[in-house]
Amino acid sequence: MILSLREQVALVTGASSGIGYACAEALAEAGASVAINFHSQAEPAEALADKIRAAGGRAITVQGDVSKEADVKRIFARTLAEFGVLDILVANSGLQKDAPVSKMTLADWNAVLEVNLTGQFLCAQAAVQQFRQQDRRPEVSRAAGKIIHMSSVHQLIPWAGHINYAASKGGVDMLMRSLAQEVGEERIRINAIAPGAIATAINQESTQGEAADKLLKLIPYGRIGAAEDVANAVVWLASDLSDYVHGTTLFIDGGMSLYPGFRDNG
Ligand code: NAD
Repeated sequence: MILSLREQVALVTGASSGIGYACAEALAEAGASVAINFHSQAEPAEALADKIRAAGGRAITVQGDVSKEADVKRIFARTLAEFGVLDILVANSGLQKDAPVSKMTLADWNAVLEVNLTGQFLCAQAAVQQFRQQDRRPEVSRAAGKIIHMSSVHQLIPWAGHINYAASKGGVDMLMRSLAQEVGEERIRINAIAPGAIATAINQESTQGEAADKLLKLIPYGRIGAAEDVANAVVWLASDLSDYVHGTTLFIDGGMSLYPGFRDNG
């Protein structure tokens, strides 16, 4: 089978940078029309849309805050007004507000949960509603719709100093699996990706210079990941090649979740 997303429409949240940007670009390369959601950086989002259009693809940009229900409704409405259908949601937006527990403010806790978990819920809910109301197109995709949640290795690995972030990603795991159980019979396919250390804006301090050497000790495969490593997996999870993959988290982490501290007998 050939991997193709032709005639499919994908919405990627938080796609003006990092992993989301790479996912939107890769989905377009695989043939999908892409709605590029951005929160605050219009310029790179517009540049990506221009690049996709210049290569013969279809793309729009749409601003919006995924933690706000009215914004999510607007993001979906704009996508559907342009493309008419939705086949793929990549719920990617996320942020960190790190602090040790004694210094973590309630505002920092809430901000991370609102974007990383509530934002994923709102977008998934809107996508499921859309998948249910549109006509099935089995000649285009075996599934009635596909959702890919962007989680993290920290849905599994506890992370001191980042309890809000780790809790949000632990929540994404149960959101994803519970939703998969709920909507699977409707042929709506739900999965997640748990990236390890991928060099992007979110973790510049730990992926460059001396900090990178320390980080590499946590990665058995011996390299820091690139956004494209995640995007390649997203394209596969969005395609019919993974049609029997449902309710699964794919760890794209160079082995970070293999407890490398135990390599030398712990
Ligand atoms: P990034 O900072 O480049 O991307 C995050 C994106 O989310 C940005 O484009 C940002 O504008 C957007 N965003 C933030 N708040 C938003 C909001 N309220 N509404 C809409 N968009 C919003 O970092 P990234 O590494 O590309 O992160 C993408 C996803 O991957 C996040 O969910 C992150 O938790 C996850 N992740 C990243 C890594 C890594 O090592 N980079 C590891 C594990 C998980």
